[in-house]
Amino acid sequence: GSTLVIKDLHVEIEGKEIIKGLNLTINGGEFHAVMGPNGTGKSTLASAVMGHPKYEVTGGSITLDGEDVLEMEVDERAQAGLFLAMQYPSEISGVTNSDFLRSSINAKREEGDEINLMKFIKEMDKNMDELEMDKNMAQRYLNEGFSGGEKKRNEILQLMMNKPEIAILDEIDSGLDIDALKVVSKGINKMRDEKFGCLIITHYQRLLNYITPDKVHVMMQGRIVKSGGPELAQRLEEEGYDWIKQELGIED
Ligand code: ADP
Ligand code: MG
Ligand code: MG
Repeated sequence: GSTLVIKDLHVEIEGKEIIKGLNLTINGGEFHAVMGPNGTGKSTLASAVMGHPKYEVTGGSITLDGEDVLEMEVDERAQAGLFLAMQYPSEISGVTNSDFLRSSINAKREEGDEINLMKFIKEMDKNMDELEMDKNMAQRYLNEGFSGGEKKRNEILQLMMNKPEIAILDEIDSGLDIDALKVVSKGINKMRDEKFGCLIITHYQRLLNYITPDKVHVMMQGRIVKSGGPELAQRLEEEGYDWIKQELGIED
């Protein structure tokens, strides 16, 4: 397994500091959840790790197995084993879902060692069955006209096919009804093994009824302010975030 280490990270968007000294380590085999109120910088964290150009890292470090992630281009980060399921997946007209998937897999392989087409289709079919996805989704343009739930299932299809070392799933539960939530959770749980590390970002505890994290972190005002086990998520569900604010003397 791989280890992602984020140390004293500072990130700005358009000159405004959003992440203000964040520390987080994810080892292979571990599932972590980051929870926090809206606007606290959860998606900014995910985007910074994946190298979105709009997010400027002004301090701290991100390393994967000791390699400097911040020095890597976006495609190099994926090749190194990082995967991001975005809160708002983008649509790409003219590129079919199937072609996009296959090129993302091949981008991580050596030239001349591209995935066998029949093997790819077989694996895609199997995973789409698992995620209860309509088979015609494979030939539709990436995310174009997909419903919210279809987009989220599709992000998990990419996850299952890409088999990254470390994945960051940003609000993979948002907008899902309970059946879709169960299917998506089942897909994520299938990924669990001693090597795969996962960071689940969510606003609600609901998802964590289906995916039990090893560690739960609360993010507020651009930092991890509290960490614990699954019981921490339970308490947030019952009591909200106010008790943490009071505990830490944080003003709104
Ligand atoms: P969360 O995911 O926790 O809800 P975000 O990371 O999306 O929070 O946003 C954190 C803060 O950064 C918010 O104040 C938001 O308005 C701001 N922000 C996020 N993305 C952008 C952007 N692309 N341009 C300008 N401000 C942004
Ligand atoms: Mg948000
Ligand atoms: Mg967000």
